Amino acid sequence: MRVAVFSTKSYDRSYLEEANRNYKHELVFFDPHLTAETCIMAEGFPCACVFVNDNLNSETLNRLAKQGVRLIALRCAGFNNVDLKASDSLGLTVVRVPAYSPNAVAEHTVALILALNRKIYRAYNRVREGNFSIEGLMGFNLHGKTIGIIGTGKIGTVVAKIMKGFGCNIIAYDPYPSSECKALGVRYIPLSELFNESDIITLHCPLTPETYHLINEQALRQMKNGVILINTSRGGVIDTLAVIQELKSGKIAYLGLDVYEEEGDLFFQDLSDRIITDDVFARLLTFPNVIITGHQAFFTHEAMENIAETTLSNIKDFELGRKCPNEVSSKLIMK
Ligand code: NAD
Repeated sequence: MRVAVFSTKSYDRSYLEEANRNYKHELVFFDPHLTAETCIMAEGFPCACVFVNDNLNSETLNRLAKQGVRLIALRCAGFNNVDLKASDSLGLTVVRVPAYSPNAVAEHTVALILALNRKIYRAYNRVREGNFSIEGLMGFNLHGKTIGIIGTGKIGTVVAKIMKGFGCNIIAYDPYPSSECKALGVRYIPLSELFNESDIITLHCPLTPETYHLINEQALRQMKNGVILINTSRGGVIDTLAVIQELKSGKIAYLGLDVYEEEGDLFFQDLSDRIITDDVFARLLTFPNVIITGHQAFFTHEAMENIAETTLSNIKDFELGRKCPNEVSSKLIMK
């Protein structure tokens, strides 16, 4: 099938080209994000292949459908950037990669917790400058601490397993508790109790109307003083302004982010010689107890191989008229 691949980086191209040896799709790579303005590039293609910050709102989808696109192939798990009601009504099929590597994201989550708690990023800079003082670098043992996991799907479950290895007490909130987590000893409790009891809170739920700004002023008020907050899910789950307030007050001791609500204009690009005009993001960068990575939690060799393989296989299913197990629609019930 002819595929217009948007938001292409060198690594997307190399992994997709390698996997495509077995599929023989005709892949045409475009650098820009897919938006209502750039979708003209997909003219004549039956498939548009997209990533997390491509904007598939109803305007973009309408234009794509008029141009003859019939399949939207997401190279990611989350589908919050697609207006599924619009794609359904236009008869567009949407497929995704639901589980390319939960381990990749879970391990990055733990990397953020450890780097923040043990101040690895500060120690790295100090030692390179010949400053071997350990003043101000004290952390705490993870052993015996309580970690609250919000969303115990594929990624949250791996986080639970890893943190159990550290000897943490694991509590969780998920409208659909997992039997695997329960068997591990994870205790499911209401959200407000999780906020109250957790030393570390980590977010692994999807971005939906229910989870939009789940971490807001009211939620933060219920948290322990000195809480560590980690978000590797989607930026919109956190109300960034409310979080900045609690960083200033000292209530949040550490913040680790791999995602940011307005990341579409920032992430996946080298902006090192430009001025950052997003003042909220710029404020976050000023805190010594905040680590931000640019949506790289998924970015491992294994995950990239799985993304390429599943994306091309999803497209093949559609091309051959087979039912694709990775289809999403507005009627999709998460569990
Ligand atoms: P999943 O579907 O396996 O798990 C999501 C879990 O969240 C489910 O158990 C679901 O019941 C739960 N959930 C739904 N609504 C909830 C709510 N209101 N409160 C609490 N829990 C709720 O998904 P996953 O593969 O574990 O991925 C989780 C999220 O991580 C994705 O939606 C995506 O946004 C994000 N993600 C980020 C990266 C990255 O690179 N940073 C990579 C992959 C996925």
